[in-house]
Amino acid sequence: MVNVRAAIGVDLGGTNIKYGIISEEGKLLKKISKPTGKNRGELQILKDIAEEIKKIQTEFIKNNGYIIGAGVGIPGPVLKNGYVENCVNLNFREINPQKVLEEMLYKMHIAVGNDANVAALGEMWQGSGRGFDSILIVTLGTGVGGGVVQERQIVYGSRGLAGELGHVVVKPDEKEFCNCGKRGCLDQIASATGIVRMTKRILDFTSAPSILREEQWLDAEKIVHAAKEGDVIAYLSLDYCMSFLGKCLAEAGCIIDPQVFIIGGGVSQAGSILKDMIQRHYEKNLSLTKQKTPIVIAELGNDAGIYGAAKMIMIQEKERMEKQNDDRSEPSIIWRNSGACSRGGRASGRLK
Ligand SMILES: [Zn+2]
Repeated sequence: MVNVRAAIGVDLGGTNIKYGIISEEGKLLKKISKPTGKNRGELQILKDIAEEIKKIQTEFIKNNGYIIGAGVGIPGPVLKNGYVENCVNLNFREINPQKVLEEMLYKMHIAVGNDANVAALGEMWQGSGRGFDSILIVTLGTGVGGGVVQERQIVYGSRGLAGELGHVVVKPDEKEFCNCGKRGCLDQIASATGIVRMTKRILDFTSAPSILREEQWLDAEKIVHAAKEGDVIAYLSLDYCMSFLGKCLAEAGCIIDPQVFIIGGGVSQAGSILKDMIQRHYEKNLSLTKQKTPIVIAELGNDAGIYGAAKMIMIQEKERMEKQNDDRSEPSIIWRNSGACSRGGRASGRLK
């Protein structure tokens, strides 16, 4: 590990905090997972993260490595300056984790972003988004997350909400409320919990046979497995849930028009059966163009977050360095043809 330059990628989830040391070339050098303990309060969680980062950095420096900084993915809207107004999953309220961590880590450079946005960046760097400049990722986990990368940059939006596909209303006649307070969000239907919810409804609605009726409790994995085994109810239920996602991607294409849609999160491990369903419903809902945006399954799985978080701080550091170099190389006095001169760059004087 001699003279390796690397960044720390942190994926802060409701259950676990994952840390990864990733070299500038994109090699995952080490991975650690610790429980979040989310009921202990935001400052305690951030203190744990700071301590772990410090530990990783110390060990890395001992081996003559260099840590560029750390990136952190958070499951909620994050502004570009790192401010989090409300992260329901972690009970973070009106806090800037970036500033707090920088203070705790003696000004080490930290970048904070929404977890799905960060995962999008990770997939673009080392996963199925390689070679693309603009992507939309949808993560199907406990909830539905979404992230947008345009021209190889994360799109934050002015309130940190860009790419929040999970809370786009796709089923206005839904009776149950979503965590966000609305009814009929994509999150309620296409997430792992949504798939279970819809399958239970279908099982109650019909008396058709299904191996799922023998299960004590249902989860998305069992439903996907049954669908692959040819269980009609499981297949129809999954297809029904994915029909909302396919339609939603067609609508999102009208706004973002990415080069590729990437399906990530735990449910995406279902693979081609899921992809084919989404693709079919997406194509059915295309109207303005016959050109189909490819839909692919994420390659990095649960590591997309740590890859993306590390890449996020690498990009920010590169931009910071370039800006510094620009400031230094810019001449302090710019001579014009007329012979007059004006102030430029970092010069503080003014000549006339
Ligand atoms: Zn919602």
